Amino acid sequence: MKKLVLVGGSGSIGEQVIDIVRANPNEFELIGMAVGTRIDSLIKAANEFKIPNICVQREEDVVTVKNAVPNATVYFGNEGLNTLARIKCDLFVNALVGFVGMEPTINAIECGNDIALANKETLVVAGELVERKLNEHNVKLYPIDSEHSAIFQCLQGNKMDDVNSLIVTASGGSFRDKSREELKGVTKADALRHPNWSMGNKITIDSATMMNKGFEVIEAHYLFKLPYDKIRVILHRQSIIHSMVEYKDHSIIAQLGVSDMRIPIQYALTYPNRIDMKYDNQLDFMKYSNLTFEELSFERYPLLKLAYEVGEAKGILPCVMNAANEIAVGAFLSEKIGFLDVERIVIETVHHFENREYNSIDDLRNYDNKARNYALELIERC
Ligand code: MG
Repeated sequence: MKKLVLVGGSGSIGEQVIDIVRANPNEFELIGMAVGTRIDSLIKAANEFKIPNICVQREEDVVTVKNAVPNATVYFGNEGLNTLARIKCDLFVNALVGFVGMEPTINAIECGNDIALANKETLVVAGELVERKLNEHNVKLYPIDSEHSAIFQCLQGNKMDDVNSLIVTASGGSFRDKSREELKGVTKADALRHPNWSMGNKITIDSATMMNKGFEVIEAHYLFKLPYDKIRVILHRQSIIHSMVEYKDHSIIAQLGVSDMRIPIQYALTYPNRIDMKYDNQLDFMKYSNLTFEELSFERYPLLKLAYEVGEAKGILPCVMNAANEIAVGAFLSEKIGFLDVERIVIETVHHFENREYNSIDDLRNYDNKARNYALELIERC
């Protein structure tokens, strides 16, 4: 039995982690779980799986949860997340969304807990720090993101020295057939209609702006330790090939499957083993007789270009970019700004900050705050 701690348990990824745990009661034991404000989900899961350690975001929810799950220890807030991350387990599953996921990852690493990571912002914001800590503590980090799971699977049994390049596929998001001119009038509802994947709101917007793909390029850089010029993004509308690895002999290995996150989640949870999939999500080739590939334009998707530049620059800029994006996406989802304002706010915020190195989590938190405030000022002026 693998002992799991899951944070971000009521989000889209978190719920699918629970699906995998529920379908495989002899493989996994949930010994900790955290949610934000969806305490009903937590109460239900904590009773179903008899989870001994649970955490909510707000202190005022502690009593309600405590009464509903009397045998569990209930934590709250960011400190609660860090406490959960420090419980000794076989796998710390981080399904949080945003900057808030970074510190628990670091805490889990410091305690020697291996990690299954869905929170890509951890590697965007603090890639250098995470890399150093993983080495220091000899901790393994397994990707949940479908593209990185695909690359990870394509690398099995091969040598990194033999890799020519990583080919990350992108669906193109909800506006892939719209020109920049046509993006001016799009609404929140349009943006949330992703053609292939059903995901949380924030990542669906990030997919439409291609910020998500930019984050994934940075994530790939830190996971697989390849320079940015060896990480290529191509538009693949069907989302059947989840990514590929090209080797120096020009052989390319691809990983295929339907767009169901339970496949990469289960692989991260059971690695190095594979177990039967209990859900009906086999790929039917006859439904996909055309797999297409197109060039992705930096002019059409400026945030992808920005992510390459900021990733290369390192230092505080990735953190600044992420913070501005979180604020801008939040404002778009509250219908305070237009879709193209998201890009503009992220780009202007990044350009406002002079790059420097960071030394600690506090340093990052400080720049995260400053960038958020600057992005908020820009939104005020919208
Ligand atoms: Mg992805």
